Amino acid sequence: MHILVTGGAGFIGSHTVVELLNQDHEVTIVDNFYNSSPKVLDAIKEITQKQFRFHLVDVSNQEQIIELFENNEFDAVIHFAGYKAVGESVSKPLSYYFNNVTSTIHLAQACVDYGVNKFVFSSSATVYGDNNVPFKEDMELLPTTNPYGETKAMSERVLMDAVKAHPDLGVSLLRYFNPVGAHPSGLIGEVPTGVPNNLMPYISQVASGQREKLFVFGNDYETTDGTGVRDYIHVVDLAKGHVAALEHLNAGTHIYNLGSGKGTSVLELVHSFEKVNDIKIPYDIVKRRDGDIAISYADASKAKNELDWETKLTIDDMCEDTWRFESKRVTKRDI
Ligand code: UDP
Repeated sequence: MHILVTGGAGFIGSHTVVELLNQDHEVTIVDNFYNSSPKVLDAIKEITQKQFRFHLVDVSNQEQIIELFENNEFDAVIHFAGYKAVGESVSKPLSYYFNNVTSTIHLAQACVDYGVNKFVFSSSATVYGDNNVPFKEDMELLPTTNPYGETKAMSERVLMDAVKAHPDLGVSLLRYFNPVGAHPSGLIGEVPTGVPNNLMPYISQVASGQREKLFVFGNDYETTDGTGVRDYIHVVDLAKGHVAALEHLNAGTHIYNLGSGKGTSVLELVHSFEKVNDIKIPYDIVKRRDGDIAISYADASKAKNELDWETKLTIDDMCEDTWRFESKRVTKRDI
């Protein structure tokens, strides 16, 4: 298949491109490097030793998308490109709604107009809101606590309605849990801009000495040790989930949780990182972060049954691979 990957230089996009190329798919990446670096493209080539096409495109610009579809024959689209900082979405809601929702609309419109009938969308477990765990695909969605989450929920609705009106279209909505880790080569991984918002990048910056200590947001939740519980998923497993979703995609809307089905607390993750990498992570317990829920983890059975996909990599793998990438990056300071 010839697959258009939007945001293919980003964290999850780049790992997915590697897996697509490994499966001998033809790939065209578009990215505007808003939150990524052109060096990632070289790293993908180094890892896979394969060729792909690249265009500098802003997916919120409809003219650029039409030109892209005019000049290429795609079989499928995997749409990753988007703003993703939860905190920033609260201070810049209009940019988030505009960028994230219009890009989905433009891409879906182009798929309809140019007869591309496979669309895989990068959604998020945040659409479940504060539901009871484990989160299941057929649950009624609760309001999310920030505009970023709303852009994911809105994009899902846009795509579901597009399928109702265009029954040949096949859409896969992939609800990611907490993607962490890096490619085992250490050549691609997550590079947060500014102070990391997410736990694993913060831990790895404490490990590398860029930050003095971790602040653990609350130890009074109703969880095993009082700290927040999340379903961490290795980005390589997540990337393989996209390939599985694409290869099984037929007409209609299909929703899948991509998670491990297991919850890990903040302190459990910290202790695994310390043990696997033999590095001490100093931390302070501080008050809860606004908008956080206590527990989130997936019921991952639908993806296993229908896509024949499940996570293989462990929390220890995630900690080891995160640190390999971060320590290389800090030494070279080039990605
Ligand atoms: N967390 C923390 N300190 C940090 C960042 C996150 O204690 O510096 C906690 C957060 O409260 C949550 C868990 O780590 O319980 C995962 O947070 P993250 O932002 O990575 O994911 P999300 O909350 O979006 O699921």
